[in-house]
Amino acid sequence: NPVLELSGLTYSYPDGTEALHRIGLRVEQGERVALLGPNGAGKTTLTLHLNGIIPARQGHLAIDGLEVAEPNLREIRRMVGLVFQDPEDQLFMPTVREDVAFGPINFGVRGTDLEERVRRALEAVGMTEHADRAPLRLSGGQRKRVALATVLACDPRLLVLDEPSAGLEPVARRELAELLLELNPTMLMVTHDLPYALQLCPRSVLLDGGQVVADRPTAELLADT
Ligand code: ADP
Ligand code: ADP
Repeated sequence: NPVLELSGLTYSYPDGTEALHRIGLRVEQGERVALLGPNGAGKTTLTLHLNGIIPARQGHLAIDGLEVAEPNLREIRRMVGLVFQDPEDQLFMPTVREDVAFGPINFGVRGTDLEERVRRALEAVGMTEHADRAPLRLSGGQRKRVALATVLACDPRLLVLDEPSAGLEPVARRELAELLLELNPTMLMVTHDLPYALQLCPRSVLLDGGQVVADRPTAELLADT
């Protein structure tokens, strides 16, 4: 099974705005794919379908062969790690450690298994020494890394990043890129940062008007636009 498989995905908001029109996309294990497109193209709407925040009404959507639909949503949310554009949207505990533990606890992980997950996730993002600090007192780049750790601790099959480089100063931006290359997850990255897409994602999918208008090697796509 591909990690992500979706076909014929069409979605209109309650006010009638058609945000997605017959989207098809397959992402294999180990692939890193950039999701590009202008404002209003449908990128956010698509990512919100991936873990069932928006339920698919028309079309087929599966993670590792498991359909993204009601009885499976708990498992799907463990498999799909969404990192929001603003880390503040997913950091809400008093300490970094508690934020990173929150997901695994929610999925039933306890005891030494839990400690080990939290330790590994913090180590992966280089935040071990900040474990007992308040997340919202960290720098922007550090907060992004903690947000990433909260998702890594759940051991996702697919990592979905919304504008990971937005708002980062150059050093933090570069460090995050190096970290992602080292972690090498199967990932879908929404971005307007074309150099970032080129550096991190061999493949790009371009959305426009709710449709996939290109699905090509990033280097080729950028050379032609
Ligand atoms: P992004 O920068 O992630 O593409 P947008 O600026 O497109 O986000 O949208 C910001 C928020 O406004 C989102 O939560 C989106 O759902 C909402 N939004 C966008 N367009 C509309 C609309 N036409 N009506 C209502 N809400 C909208
Ligand atoms: P992107 O993330 O690429 O900027 P979105 O998925 O946010 O695009 O938006 C896709 C389309 O859906 C746009 O036309 C947008 O205005 C519309 N839209 C987004 N959120 C809402 C909403 N909550 N209600 C109505 N329309 C929306």
